[in-house]
Amino acid sequence: MATIDFTIDGRTIQAEEGQTILEAAQVAGIRIPTLCYHRDLTPTGNCRICVVEIEGQRFLQAACVTPAANGIVVHTASERVVKSRRKTLELMLANHPQDCLTCDLGGSCELQDLAYEYQVEVPSWGSKGTRYEVDSDPNPFVRVDFNKCILCRRCVQACAEIQCRDVWGVAYRGFDEEIVAGANTTMLDARCESCGQCAAYCPTGALSDKMAHGLGRAHQVTKVTTTCTYCGVGCQFDLNVMNDKIIRVTSNPDAPANGMALCVKGRYGYDFIHHPDRLTKPLIRQGDGFVEASWDEALDLIASRLGQIKEESGPNSIAFLASAKCTNEENYLIQKLARAVIGTNNVDHCARL
Ligand code: SF4
Ligand code: SF4
Ligand code: SF4
Repeated sequence: MATIDFTIDGRTIQAEEGQTILEAAQVAGIRIPTLCYHRDLTPTGNCRICVVEIEGQRFLQAACVTPAANGIVVHTASERVVKSRRKTLELMLANHPQDCLTCDLGGSCELQDLAYEYQVEVPSWGSKGTRYEVDSDPNPFVRVDFNKCILCRRCVQACAEIQCRDVWGVAYRGFDEEIVAGANTTMLDARCESCGQCAAYCPTGALSDKMAHGLGRAHQVTKVTTTCTYCGVGCQFDLNVMNDKIIRVTSNPDAPANGMALCVKGRYGYDFIHHPDRLTKPLIRQGDGFVEASWDEALDLIASRLGQIKEESGPNSIAFLASAKCTNEENYLIQKLARAVIGTNNVDHCARL
């Protein structure tokens, strides 16, 4: 592949043909701030935070959509660039509620971080008050507060490009421009399957996780990376644990099978973990009821009954049903137990039904 040499902040770097200035800068370890850009989504260049100055060009260019070219000289933090970014942020904040104190995203909000980095205050001429109803959509999992929307369109792209549902779109123009579900209906009516991808990609608190609202912020939780137990795909994500309770599931961008993507079960199906009805001890049937037992008692009973049944009726009177909720290793062991210990090939799996 042909390579391109160009200068960025006084350094000569190399890019592959077709790479954008942003991609080449990232490879070279040079940071250009972004907001609407996400490595998983098609770059659109609409937020204008990643603008850079290219010598000899009249206008600033969005680095996420401008291809690197031989010999260009790029400045990522010139006075003109910084002034432009500050103005862009000021325009965003002019139409944004000052809710950082109570916002779930406080501390992990990309807009908040950039406003801090560029020391941008809310302009006195900005609009006051909320324009949209808070928690405006009845979706049980995604909390919608478009007062915090900066119209970056990541939700639109995540839903269309990753989930292929095309729930979100952009309606109206100018100051009235807003994100809408379908033809301005509810998310579920617009074919939403509540995967939460849009909330995961939203850089602000405009789309967030309803079940986690008010329970804790990113810096207060311990993240534990784990593998989903719902099916055999092997998606990974981070359990967000606070005071020994899972308060939220967040995407882990480095998950090998799924990246940021999760289905509704993986992202939001965690409330069973702390459910009071959940079995936490083995139960042994006695008459019409069950009595609590220790694991040793339960396992001894299972072993002796399986041995007895095998003795009386032969190994093929026993069948083993494994589960996609177990790991591959556990499923391997259960078929080993069936074949090598009991002597039957009667092994099946709930995911095959
Ligand atoms: S979305 Fe970000 S900037 Fe807006 S209120 Fe929440 S934390 Fe603050
Ligand atoms: S929850 Fe999933 S399907 Fe629903 S709008 Fe968001 S990305 Fe689309
Ligand atoms: S809801 Fe979030 S992701 Fe969607 S456009 Fe607004 S800020 Fe961007």
